[in-house]
Amino acid sequence: RNSKRQIECRRDIDRLNARFLGIYESLIPPDEEKVKQKQLVTLLKKLVIKEWPEAELYIYGSCGNSFGVSKSDIDVCLAIEDLDVNKSEVLLKLADILQSDNLQNVQALTRARVPIVKLMDPVTGISCDICINNLLAVVNTKLLRDYAKIDARLRQLAFIVKHWAKSRGVNETYRGTLSSYAYVLMCIHFLQQRKPAILPCLQLVPCQGMEITYAVTVDNVECAYFDQVEKLSSFGSRNKESIAQLVWAFFNYWAYWHDYANDVLSVRTGSVLSKRGKDWTRRIGNDRHLICIEDPFETSHDLGRVVDKFSIRVLREEFERAAEIMQYDPDPCVTLFEPY
Ligand code: ATP
Ligand code: MG
Repeated sequence: RNSKRQIECRRDIDRLNARFLGIYESLIPPDEEKVKQKQLVTLLKKLVIKEWPEAELYIYGSCGNSFGVSKSDIDVCLAIEDLDVNKSEVLLKLADILQSDNLQNVQALTRARVPIVKLMDPVTGISCDICINNLLAVVNTKLLRDYAKIDARLRQLAFIVKHWAKSRGVNETYRGTLSSYAYVLMCIHFLQQRKPAILPCLQLVPCQGMEITYAVTVDNVECAYFDQVEKLSSFGSRNKESIAQLVWAFFNYWAYWHDYANDVLSVRTGSVLSKRGKDWTRRIGNDRHLICIEDPFETSHDLGRVVDKFSIRVLREEFERAAEIMQYDPDPCVTLFEPY
């Protein structure tokens, strides 16, 4: 594997820039779609407030973190303080309320790992999942959105990586590959590691003129970081790498450079930690730690834990395929995204 490590990328790499940017732009949801999403959320708020006047409704996931491609489902979190009844009852009640307001395909999935109500808005065709009190997801959504505001290349890279992962069938947690959330963290970490860095580490404060400006405690987890990201808009400007170079280097890293046996990727510290240090060296239950990505807030949580000994091979073969294509293929912008 290591013998295939590339130090230098193909000479004509920048010829691919316009193509990659074109793909990125074609994936961005149009404004009309954003308007429709807002309308649906406004309707949901109106219905929810009638039953739970104190409740809040938050958008999380790709519609809130700015990494959502066109036609994504909306992830919504219903926050109810001092929940005295159980979540299932709330979900069933919620499903009832939504059903009687002409929303379609309303389903309460009370036994899922994350229990939700699913629905579809017949007017816009938008689907939506509503969960209860999943506030850590709301906070990590904000972290991702804040990182995206610092340097445009993060959103470009993450859209391309997500598009690649969906086309190649490696964005399916139920089949042992990685979530979109994990891929975005991989992109953030990768840009933190470039020399010069394209992204700072927002949680590593005080440092480089940053301090804690946002702090909440959710489910006993302290979430704190520097969120005045408008002050960091020129952070990455010393690094001139283009999107095509970054896509090349991203796949080259995951194909040939990452140390799967020992390393843990950590956006929280902006560095690589050791598996040994986190005690992630052994299989415990279903957690195998074959590729380790630390959650930025729930630090005991490895986003790679869904990956098993079969899917790790699939994943690594896909990284290698992508790296080879980026190095040698005459038309990588097509081949990279070929359906598997
Ligand atoms: P997609 O465009 O594929 O729908 P998404 O950003 O909505 O992408 P998902 O993987 O569906 O990504 O996750 C939705 C949100 O749920 C994430 O943005 C994150 O806030 C939260 N989330 C998902 N998986 C985890 C996890 N393992 N641990 C903590 N939070 C998670
Ligand atoms: Mg989603």
